Amino acid sequence: MEKTLFIIKPDAVKRNRIGRILSMVEEAGLKIIRLSLMHLSREQACEFYAMHRGKEFYEKLVDYMSSAPCVVCVLEGNDAVKLLRSICGATDPTLAAPGTIRSEFGINITMNSVHASDSSESAKREVKFFFPEVE
Ligand code: GDP
Repeated sequence: MEKTLFIIKPDAVKRNRIGRILSMVEEAGLKIIRLSLMHLSREQACEFYAMHRGKEFYEKLVDYMSSAPCVVCVLEGNDAVKLLRSICGATDPTLAAPGTIRSEFGINITMNSVHASDSSESAKREVKFFFPEVE
């Protein structure tokens, strides 16, 4: 079993899409083992996305992620990192495959509704970042 971090971003929370998005996650066979509605501070968003520091979209990204509440979850399942990335779809919702979460709910590349860890190393760091007690 593998764990991964999943975030429902402010655009989707504001538009009452939490339930529909979590249904897609559960239907894919992933188990929700932690779930919390959190309003990230700007500092938390900066640290969470530290690998993007210096990129042209970084400030916009951290402003956006700290602008309103998110739903932060730890998901568990076989090949969870890869499975979750596949159901989320491409970063840019206009390029995301039909039926993926970002294709269904994303507004643009910033307001793309969800975050999913991109590797097992990132998943370990990201799970620990929000839920330090999770093994
Ligand atoms: P992800 O793993 O698919 O979320 O993509 P990345 O790790 O590359 O980027 C993190 C987040 O930064 C993405 O989900 C987008 O919200 C945002 N982002 C990435 N690339 C761009 C870009 O070129 N422009 C803008 N405005 N935002 C971006």
